[in-house]
Amino acid sequence: MAGRDTEEGMYWEKDIETMNREDLAALQLERLQKTIGQAANSFYYNNLFKEIGLKAEDVLALADLGKIPPTTKDDLREHWPYGFLATSKDELVRMHSSSGTTGRATVIFHTQSDIDSWTNLLSRCMYMTGMRKRDVFQIMMTYGLFTGGLGFHYGAEKIGALIIPAGAGNSKRQIQLLKDFETTVIHIIPSYALHLSTVFEELDMDPQDTHIRIAYIGAEPHSEKMRQKIEAIYGFKAFNSYGLSEMNGPGVAFECPFQNGLHIWEDNFLVEILDPATLQPLPDGAEGELVLTTLVREGMPIIRYRTKDLTRIIPGTCPCGRTHRRIERIKGRTDDMLILKGVNIFPIQIEKKLMEIPRVGKNFLIILDREDYNDQMTVKVEVERQFFQGDLKHLEQLRRKISEGLKSDILITPKVDLVEPDSLPQSEGKAQRVIDNRKD
Ligand code: AMP
Ligand code: ZN
Repeated sequence: MAGRDTEEGMYWEKDIETMNREDLAALQLERLQKTIGQAANSFYYNNLFKEIGLKAEDVLALADLGKIPPTTKDDLREHWPYGFLATSKDELVRMHSSSGTTGRATVIFHTQSDIDSWTNLLSRCMYMTGMRKRDVFQIMMTYGLFTGGLGFHYGAEKIGALIIPAGAGNSKRQIQLLKDFETTVIHIIPSYALHLSTVFEELDMDPQDTHIRIAYIGAEPHSEKMRQKIEAIYGFKAFNSYGLSEMNGPGVAFECPFQNGLHIWEDNFLVEILDPATLQPLPDGAEGELVLTTLVREGMPIIRYRTKDLTRIIPGTCPCGRTHRRIERIKGRTDDMLILKGVNIFPIQIEKKLMEIPRVGKNFLIILDREDYNDQMTVKVEVERQFFQGDLKHLEQLRRKISEGLKSDILITPKVDLVEPDSLPQSEGKAQRVIDNRKD
């Protein structure tokens, strides 16, 4: 039976969580071979395997994985929507996509078995940190296409907790729910946790005066200092949760009670750390790009997915007894993707939108700030000089048009500042499009 507290520790699936490394490697190889066979049913991998002359039976060791070129977000986009599908559509029960874009987002399809294994991973993560049947779990994450809300929801339901599917935003209502139902566990974006504390203050309430004992924070980069600040404000333990939609969503890597790195579930994902420039594997301890292969997915297996997230494997074992290796909290990205309020944004999306609007210049600058614990994006845009000579009304109309245009595309309403031509810094090489002033 899943989920048992014993004197040896708190494990959802003790056998798997503490499996010795040799057995784990054998399990991985068996699952990898199956995954490659399954992936060959998809248009994309079928072509790729033909191109490189690979057959599933050629994969005799985990190291053979290196023969397969990595898969990128662009590959997924280019084969949108069904190019990676490895089952018939009849088998699918759910789709999700990455946060942020309303355009051709990367889409992931799941069979029932995919949903079941993803759910199980989240139960494992939450059980590990102490969630139990008696808990009241308030999910303050977006539901819908984004994976955060539903992923945690199913995992907690399997543990048997009482779930409050609050969704994102509406701070006063969140606080009301926390109070009225004596919420004990929350799932929240770290920047929103900081912002929510200011709403407690506005209401003349003490953020320490709740029943919350555990928070899951993730979906965006945050520092150890920021975690400590959140823990100090609320008086609960905050556990870092890492995941990405291409690998289901949350439940890829999660902190245990020792909070010393995130256990990455190696029975479900094959982990590589590659040098992002050469794509050569790096040893444990060295920082590089996290590259992941799904090991149990049927609907849409993905092989060697370049997450573009920078981290390292923490050498050594964890005192909790789990044998799955730990990654360090994400240090940054190898591309220019920004994450604001948990939403992924690429500067190119902003550029494209601006270029669609007549009389807007080429130059723009994105500034990210954290004011009163509130994350803000300002887009400074150069517009034709004549706007500054004519009616102010036109300037305001243009400003609003840009702001609304951006909101429809990046799902966040930025503050838009219109500036005169040539007033923004010009760089000689690659334009610096982003200034991130967010501090802890
Ligand atoms: P999405 O596919 O929309 O779920 O976005 C996934 C991306 O969010 C990851 O590739 C990371 O860049 C980022 N992310 C998710 N969780 C964390 C976390 N705990 N710390 C830092 N970045 C995170
Ligand atoms: Zn541990």
